[in-house]
Amino acid sequence: MRKGVVILGATGSIGRSALEVMAGLEAPPPFEALTAYRDVDRLVALAWKHRPRVAVIADPALGSALADALRGSGVEVAAGVDALADVAGDTGSDTVISAIVGAAGLLPTLAAVRAGKRVLIANKEPLVMAGGIVMAAARAAGAEILPVDSEHNAIFQCLPAGYCCGQPPEGVDRLILTASGGPFRTWSRAEMAQATPAQAVAHPNWDMGAKISVDSATMMNKGLEVIEAHWLFATPAEQIDIVVHPQSIVHSLVAYRDGSFLAQMGAPDMRIPIANALGHPDRLPSGAAPLDLVRAGTLHFEAADAERFPCLRLARAAIDGTDAAPTVLNAANEVAVEAFLAERLAFDAIAAVIEATLEGAGRLAVRDSADLDAVIGLDAWARSFASERIAGAEYTK
Ligand code: NAD
Ligand code: MG
Repeated sequence: MRKGVVILGATGSIGRSALEVMAGLEAPPPFEALTAYRDVDRLVALAWKHRPRVAVIADPALGSALADALRGSGVEVAAGVDALADVAGDTGSDTVISAIVGAAGLLPTLAAVRAGKRVLIANKEPLVMAGGIVMAAARAAGAEILPVDSEHNAIFQCLPAGYCCGQPPEGVDRLILTASGGPFRTWSRAEMAQATPAQAVAHPNWDMGAKISVDSATMMNKGLEVIEAHWLFATPAEQIDIVVHPQSIVHSLVAYRDGSFLAQMGAPDMRIPIANALGHPDRLPSGAAPLDLVRAGTLHFEAADAERFPCLRLARAAIDGTDAAPTVLNAANEVAVEAFLAERLAFDAIAAVIEATLEGAGRLAVRDSADLDAVIGLDAWARSFASERIAGAEYTK
């Protein structure tokens, strides 16, 4: 943290937790840039409080409203999606926190990676849609990618000291991702078919943005995380397991070939992995309450059920399929989740739309997703295919 910090998606759940961690430090780093999509009021409040060098709003129509509200603050203003990549890649910062939700984070995250920065990645969708490209760019530019997603940060902490980005050392047998099981862990398929957005976003343990909350309810979040772990840790998907752990106290594990399992534990509070990644290799205070093991009492583990949660099966199939399949899976999921939140799609139709889009892509025989333009084209194709399906009669609510 020698220079400034950029927070992409500063107004979101992760962005605000990151600001809290940094504001709580004895010597907080300077804020280079805070960015948001459309929530001008929140961005304005954060900018007045934390005084970044620049505040960026992604929606260009809101640039003048932002400028008006920040007049006299000394904070510069920029607007538009290109401005996100500009601040992520420029020389004013050496640390970028990638906390936008969805594929919209790909280009700014990549700009930070290509500039060789320390990039703290919470925004998992770019890794799912273009993980090979992001990791290759990191190697080429000498960027340091540190996972913020709690499971991946746990695995990072359970790997030997000195490990960073790429293949784990010899002796690592398996990576084990824990899953809370989400709000519908004990629901039948028939009950889930009737689930409302309000029920889906009411996560039992974590307070998160709407999209990832729905992903937790379908368990697609865990499917996306298998793909994320595959890229972050250069590990074949068949060496990555999922185990349901409803208490969300063990955040993930690394199994070694001598039979040792190393786990990272803590309260379910994203400030912990954020502080870990920010301070690495030092340990910073996070502001999170310490774990009370006696109060936690019992730790419970059970198998994940891909019958009731078909998104688990679809994500596994995507990573075993063509290298274009994860891009298609991610885009179709984003579109379907948005439609579910807008009450245009039933909960159980989310998986059906993703499956239909993957089948449609298979017929196209799109295989090449090695370059960025191909990924972006495929993402756009999958979005329009999924949107058409949702608008059609088949899934009408
Ligand atoms: P959120 O919805 O609370 O916040 C998203 C942020 O991104 C906001 O600042 C928003 O303004 C910005 N944004 C949204 N769409 C944008 C666009 N099109 N262009 C530019 N900016 C845009 O989301 P969140 O829960 O903070 O999650 C952020 C990312 O972190 C997601 O990828 C999520 O999967 C991941 N993550 C979140 C948690 C969590 O606890 N919230 C945990 C692990 C991983
Ligand atoms: Mg997670």
